[in-house]
Amino acid sequence: MQCELLEKCGFFKKYRDTLNLACRGFIKTYCEGDKMDECKRKEYRLRYGTAPDDDMMPSGQMMPEEYKKSL
Ligand code: SF4
Repeated sequence: MQCELLEKCGFFKKYRDTLNLACRGFIKTYCEGDKMDECKRKEYRLRYGTAPDDDMMPSGQMMPEEYKKSL
């Protein structure tokens, strides 16, 4: 089971390999889990017709500075 936006999603692409446990938890429960339809990133995309910032988490909060990954 995985989110249909997985390959397009900036958050997933940026953080898919992260070792950060909280972040891995989000990916497991939202991107590859049963909360995918509650994802705030998905909601944002539907509402505004454009993708949110890559650092917006599925919960709708922004990634804290200390965990942000620079590409
Ligand atoms: S962050 Fe949300 S939109 Fe992106 S892949 Fe995960 S569940 Fe889908």
